Amino acid sequence: MQMTTNSGLAAVEAALKTRLAALTTDIAGIEADRRAPLDADFSEQASELAGQDALGGIEDGKVAEADAIRGALARVADGSYGKCVSCGCTIPAARLAAVPTATRCVACAEATSG
Ligand SMILES: [Zn+2]
Repeated sequence: MQMTTNSGLAAVEAALKTRLAALTTDIAGIEADRRAPLDADFSEQASELAGQDALGGIEDGKVAEADAIRGALARVADGSYGKCVSCGCTIPAARLAAVPTATRCVACAEATSG
């Protein structure tokens, strides 16, 4: 285990945890909305169901982001955060600043995205 004191990493970890807490709160709120009983009026039911579909899409995005953040926090904990999972290079700080949950360097992300 190499000794690396990296205060930048601690700041990233704190920011990720803050974001994860906000997402967890949002997801819980959306799930509460989706579980709310439907209005007795059929036309109201239709619009409520459409709204729930939209909420479901928003929730999926938030769940995916929360998963990505949990993964990033796990990499912070095991010391692999900031390393490209494909080529093993160090992901540039500017990329991590823009995408804190990035698991690949720009070159590998472009190579695997399509
Ligand atoms: Zn790479």
